[in-house]
Amino acid sequence: MEKIRRTALVAGVANGRSLAWFSAISLLKKGYDVIITYQNDRFEPTVKKMVESYQKEQIKSGNGIRKCGGFLKYLPCDVSCDNSIRTLMTEDVPKVLHESSKTERIDAIVHSIAHAPPESMKQSSSSTTNTNEPSLQLVGTSRSAFQTTHDVSSYSLIALTQHALPYLTTVTTTTDTDTSSVTALTYLGSTRAAPHYNVMGPAKASLEAVVRGLASELGPAHGVRVNAVSAGPVNTLAARGVQDFTNLKQRTAENAPLRRNANPEEVADVVAYLSHGEEGAGAITGQVVYVDGGFSSVVAV
Ligand code: NAP
Repeated sequence: MEKIRRTALVAGVANGRSLAWFSAISLLKKGYDVIITYQNDRFEPTVKKMVESYQKEQIKSGNGIRKCGGFLKYLPCDVSCDNSIRTLMTEDVPKVLHESSKTERIDAIVHSIAHAPPESMKQSSSSTTNTNEPSLQLVGTSRSAFQTTHDVSSYSLIALTQHALPYLTTVTTTTDTDTSSVTALTYLGSTRAAPHYNVMGPAKASLEAVVRGLASELGPAHGVRVNAVSAGPVNTLAARGVQDFTNLKQRTAENAPLRRNANPEEVADVVAYLSHGEEGAGAITGQVVYVDGGFSSVVAV
């Protein structure tokens, strides 16, 4: 019997530490054809190198790309720009799908994108906040920083899903479990005031609300599952934007029931599990799944 080809679109690769990159690898290991996206030309050389060295490694180890998984392609997409998303979904992705997998469907979308203007993530020294109160950073957020953060970190999930909808599979019966999925990366700062997380906290709350809203709309109409994975602290480029991140990471590990943080591979494997819908995950939608060593379940004292 011919193996079912599955395709995933993973948005938000900046470098080899990106949770998007780990998610792509995890999906490749599950046999997916994977298209990763990066924001702009600045990251193209890095992403190109990563893809080429991954492919070389597969060939060297005798796996062959096909055996380990499917193809791995990379495309640009700036989610703050409708035209960029439109070009991705109406020109670039269809071309890759047609040339490489002869399919017109996307089985999984992974949204691994967040951005806040750097000044809104810094210790405030502006006159709008009291400099003796270093934690009063959300109150100093400008209207435009709030809008940008929510636009890139939350609205982008709606925009990507909206444009990808024609490629997401449509179920034919309510018992059909071969459905497609959308999975977003989030953080506990959505429901708790996390130190130095500032405007990103409300943006993640918004993102999680979007996940629930999309799940409720797209389940009945398209059989599409929509979930979020809430990761504990992982050293990445985005994490570097959070002040005192090393301390946050260490304190999280000390207080987590497992006395450690989740590693990026573990986060990515849960992303892939939810995406694939195997072993019971086909009934999970509208949920935020925590992969954080249990930190979110306890009161740290
Ligand atoms: P990362 O490697 O820096 O990934 C963030 C990605 O968002 C980057 O590729 C970044 O591209 C991209 N991005 C920002 N603005 C964009 C835009 N306008 N269009 C397209 N892409 C854009 O960091 P990461 O930690 O893996 O972050 C991935 C996701 O995981 C984020 O949603 C983050 O909030 C979430 N998360 C991270 C942690 C953690 O501790 N690392 C914990 C929980 C959740 P540029 O670099 O080009 O801006």
